[in-house]
Amino acid sequence: MQAFVMNGVGETRMTEKERPQPGPNDAILKPTVALICTSDVHTVHGAIGERENLTLGHEAVGVVDEVGSEVERFSEGDRAVVGAITPEWGSAAAQDGHPSQSGGQLGGWKFANEKDGVFAEYAHVNEADANLAHIPDGVTDEEAVYVCDMLSTGFAGAENAAIPMGGTVAVFAQGPVGLMATKGARLQGAGRVIAVESVPERQELAREYGADEIVDFEAVDPVERIHELTDGEGVDAAIEALGSEETLADCVAVTKPGGTVSNVGYYGEGGTVDIPREAWGVGMAEKDIVTDLCPGGSVRLGRLLRLIEAGRVDPTKMTTHEFDFENIEEAFELMASKEDGVIKPLVRF
Ligand code: ZN
Repeated sequence: MQAFVMNGVGETRMTEKERPQPGPNDAILKPTVALICTSDVHTVHGAIGERENLTLGHEAVGVVDEVGSEVERFSEGDRAVVGAITPEWGSAAAQDGHPSQSGGQLGGWKFANEKDGVFAEYAHVNEADANLAHIPDGVTDEEAVYVCDMLSTGFAGAENAAIPMGGTVAVFAQGPVGLMATKGARLQGAGRVIAVESVPERQELAREYGADEIVDFEAVDPVERIHELTDGEGVDAAIEALGSEETLADCVAVTKPGGTVSNVGYYGEGGTVDIPREAWGVGMAEKDIVTDLCPGGSVRLGRLLRLIEAGRVDPTKMTTHEFDFENIEEAFELMASKEDGVIKPLVRF
């Protein structure tokens, strides 16, 4: 089968690989549609170290091609979505309520990290009953593929932000995760959502997804502006959806004492991340900083699909470009360059 791989830092190529085989609890998914993610770009640039001949990609939907002997809920031919994160559900971390950390730090993240990802003609899914979800008839593959990571991660940013009903939220960066954090904040009952973004197309989408105000950080100091907008009080919650030290510091600075900074940003480079000491109330302002790795699992995927099916969110507005699998390298380069107003490039198999 054909697979799109990383072969050393900075190197990608299409290559021939053996079709994977399922263990008793696993499934083989034949992808129909996938999305390129900025974290794929981070991976190729060395964010998680060297990888040899590792298939990239972690956002895909498809058709179940084969199931192991113990799989009960899925059969060959089923339309299914797999989470970007595929935990080991019997692990101690999962039993402790942190399935994404199963098997060690970030251990639930298997695709294009510990094992081959989904940018291939076939992909191996561990613990299929728990990590796959059926796609309802009323939801297209092009919609469903957004629950793998963008809806799950963006909405987790809002869920973890402990937003009081009617509360004020600032969402820093309106890439696809930030846009879904904006939408998630609205769905969670935020009364006011302030989106921080400089790119006009992203500002426009942020409004469509429910931002009340846009702060252009290229034009104004976002911390000053958000304090002005909130009469000096600050926001109940700030969501970091970029992964930059400066943005995290701004999140801490705009959050009122007792508020929450919810991080879903991926810090792809650097040695440490500093927290601004005074803005953090010298450690005593009761400003919580919470972090998450995209939650996975069939139950959550099913809930997210229900939001799409019920018309609560239309993620396809984020699909700016489409490519055939044979041209995936082009899609990848576009995502790396962030040119041409790209938000999400979709790949068809
Ligand atoms: Zn992703």
